[in-house]
Amino acid sequence: MSSPRIALLGFMLEANQFAPVTTGDDFRESCYFVGQEILVDAAKPAPRVPAEICGFIQDMDAAGDWQPVPILVTNVEPGGPAAADFVAETLDKMRQMLADAGPLDAVYLCNHGAMTATDSTDPDGAYYAMARSVVGPDVPIVATVDLHANISDRMVESVEAIISYRTNPHVDQAARAAEAAQLTRWLLAGGRLSKTFIRMPIVAPSVRLLTAAGPYADLINRGQAEKAAGVRVVSVVGGFAWGDTPENGLAILTYGEPGAEVDAEALARTLAMQSWAQRERFNVTLTSLDEGVAQAKSRGEDASLPALCIADVADNPGGGGRGNTTDVLESLIAANVQGALLGLFVDPAVAAQCHAAGIGAKIDVVFNQANADKHGRAVPASIEVVSLSDGVVVGRRGIRAGSTVDLGPSACVRLGGLTIVVVSRRIQGADPAFYEAFGLDIASFRTVVLKSRGHFRAGFDIFFENEQIIEVDALGLTNPMLSRFPFARLPRPVYPLDPNTTWQCPS
Ligand SMILES: [Zn+2]
Repeated sequence: MSSPRIALLGFMLEANQFAPVTTGDDFRESCYFVGQEILVDAAKPAPRVPAEICGFIQDMDAAGDWQPVPILVTNVEPGGPAAADFVAETLDKMRQMLADAGPLDAVYLCNHGAMTATDSTDPDGAYYAMARSVVGPDVPIVATVDLHANISDRMVESVEAIISYRTNPHVDQAARAAEAAQLTRWLLAGGRLSKTFIRMPIVAPSVRLLTAAGPYADLINRGQAEKAAGVRVVSVVGGFAWGDTPENGLAILTYGEPGAEVDAEALARTLAMQSWAQRERFNVTLTSLDEGVAQAKSRGEDASLPALCIADVADNPGGGGRGNTTDVLESLIAANVQGALLGLFVDPAVAAQCHAAGIGAKIDVVFNQANADKHGRAVPASIEVVSLSDGVVVGRRGIRAGSTVDLGPSACVRLGGLTIVVVSRRIQGADPAFYEAFGLDIASFRTVVLKSRGHFRAGFDIFFENEQIIEVDALGLTNPMLSRFPFARLPRPVYPLDPNTTWQCPS
């Protein structure tokens, strides 16, 4: 086919059922591009559109003549369920633009896969089905998803293939989108795929879904290593526990070319059985907050000890956390810990006070005054404003490398032995650039406390070996101890919440 016309769409939210609603304004302020704006942004040196959009375009451009048909791309930091009216309005707009676009040869859907809405557990399924309903049964549709997706039957049925990330921290978005582009060209040339989809009664906390090592890494690696000829796509999708949907569960998806249907199905079964046999490896142990703070204190007192990285995994904006819980901060203050850096602390009021006071000012503030509740108290403190920023930063390492990120008005402040980076927008502080933008030398700190679940590992790997990182048990909307959350919609029984869960491989 010469110069195929391929529609580009993106709709991305990882929704934490226990977090406040994600509004249309949240999407629009984060990333919302319509029509040609998508191509203009994607061509910039540091785009705001998801890396998949750029990866898909680049791979298509390199392969030959094609016509991108940009529709609508929107993406937002993980948060609570999307407002139902925004989902409806966005899907309507996409539907209309697709219908008005004229004949299309294929569709690429960029997606996270763990969106919920205030009125639905499966708006991603509605998104896929919308695209299918417009283009009909004969136009290939390929989707990419985050490996924290909760895969619904509707998603699987609506598209030719779902390609999942294979890295956590996520650094292969562009590579998976390139894979989607290659698959799209093969489908345009007449290729057809079989599908196998097995969802497991395993809902693992995200800290056990890393891909450098561990049970999930073993599944992903085996899936790729044992791909027989003709097994075109293997997606092992870890899922997102806090979505709290009936679609939750580790999912295996395999797609085979004609002649490889049996191999593809057999591989899906092999991976499903391995995940079940090794399910105990998905259990979590965290370091107590007292122990973590004691370790930080010792680092401040003894320069011969290696530096320490504390991951405040329970308050990870990258999983819907608020970024403003205070129990770790209060414990560090109470213990008079020295030489520690903490960030990103999300507090627009404190950031605004710092900007009003100016660099060098010594002021009294109250951290988390606006959101004091069971997750974090209001913490009064006397601070010194060290530096200020408008918060627009280009990521340099890990998940946001090369992307423009807007932290909002931001400040670096000193509080006793602590240096704190305060921002206005809820962003996972996973990239060293977010701290270096204030002139901070990360290597000079004895302890670095990050409100991040795991993506910091791809940004701070140049500062910390795995042995120097601890995950502390603190308050927050993304605490990995799942039994503490009032899940209402997960399929039950499910492992590890229900240790006696049973499973048999479907025949
Ligand atoms: Zn993810």
